[in-house]
Amino acid sequence: MDNEKDTILIVEDSEINIQILSKSMEADYYIKIATSGESAWAILKSEKPPDIILLDIIMPGIDGYSLLEKIRKTDELRDIPVIFITSKTEDADQTHGFALGAVDYVTKPFNPKVVLYRVKSHLELKKRRDLLARWSVIDELTEIANRRAFNDAIGKEWRRSLREKTYLSLLMIDIDNFKKYNDYYGHPAGDACLRNIANAINKTLCRPGDFCARYGGEEFACLLPSTDLNGAKHIARKLLENVSELKIRHAPSTGRDFVSISIGIHSVVPENSSAMSAIIENADKALYLAKSKGKNRFEFIASLKL
Ligand code: GH3
Ligand code: MG
Ligand code: MG
Ligand code: MG
Repeated sequence: MDNEKDTILIVEDSEINIQILSKSMEADYYIKIATSGESAWAILKSEKPPDIILLDIIMPGIDGYSLLEKIRKTDELRDIPVIFITSKTEDADQTHGFALGAVDYVTKPFNPKVVLYRVKSHLELKKRRDLLARWSVIDELTEIANRRAFNDAIGKEWRRSLREKTYLSLLMIDIDNFKKYNDYYGHPAGDACLRNIANAINKTLCRPGDFCARYGGEEFACLLPSTDLNGAKHIARKLLENVSELKIRHAPSTGRDFVSISIGIHSVVPENSSAMSAIIENADKALYLAKSKGKNRFEFIASLKL
C-alpha cells in the first residue's frame, strides 16, 4: 500500500455543497473541484484521473448524466467509480444513474459523514477489483504477463495478422539445465534467476506491440506482431546476448559457466485455413531442435510460405 492519498473529484455547481463536502473529506483525500460538467471534463482529459468522482446531476451545460456517459465511453476513465449526488429522489432518476454506470448515489440534503463512508467503501472495493484484475494477468514470481494473458494476446494478434496479412512471430524460450541449477543452488536462488531472466527478456523487447509472458515453469514466450523471420532472429540474438550478459553463475552446467537459454522461433502470415495452435507447436519444435543441437542458441521452423 502506498501512502499517497487518493484523489476525489467533486463536480458540483453549488458553492455550499462544495464547502461541506471538501471540509468533511480534505483530511483523508486530495480534493479537486469542478463547478460545471465542462470544467470537470477538462480536468478529466488533461490531468491524472481521480480515484473517485462525486457527481451532481443538475448543472447548467453538461449535466451529471451526460458527463457520466462521456466518462464511460473513455477507456482511461471508464473504471473510475462515480457516486451521484442528487436532489432527484424519484426511483426512475436513480435507476437511470445506475444504468449509466454510477456505483452509488447520495440524496440531498446529505450527511457528509455518510458520504465520507460511502467514498471510503467504494475506494476499497475499487482497489480490490484492481488487484484482482492485475493478478489475473500477471505472473506472481516474475511480475511479467502470465499464461492467461499470453493466451488472450496470441488470440488477438493472430486475428489481427490474419486481417492485415502481416507476419506474426513467436519465440518460445526455455532456460538450459535449470533443474541442475535448482538442485545445486536451491529453489530460492532458482526463483531469483527466473526473475532476472524474465526482466532481461522483457527489456529486450522494445516495440509497443511486443509481448512476453511466463509460459510456465522456466519457459517464456515472446509474441512479435508485424515481425518476419529476420526480425525474429534479430530479437533472438539479442535475447541470447542479454541473458548471457547477466553472467548468472551455473557451476553444475556442463561445458558452460553461466545460465543460458534456448529459443525456438516460428514466423507465419496466418491464413484462414491454418490453425492458431500450429504457431505454438512449430515454435516448440524449433525449441526442441535448439536443445538437441547443444542449447544456448535459437533455431526456427520456417512457415511453408517462406
Ligand atoms: P533443459 O536444458 O533441457 O531445458 O533442461 P532443464 O533442466 O532446464 O529442464 P527440465 O524440464 O528437466 O527442468 C525444468 C526445471 O525448472 C524443473 C524445476 O526445478 C524448474 N522450475 C520450474 N518452475 C520453477 C519455479 O517456479 N521456481 C524454480 N526455482 N524452479 C522452477
Ligand atoms: Mg446542481
Ligand atoms: Mg522446460
Ligand atoms: Mg529448461
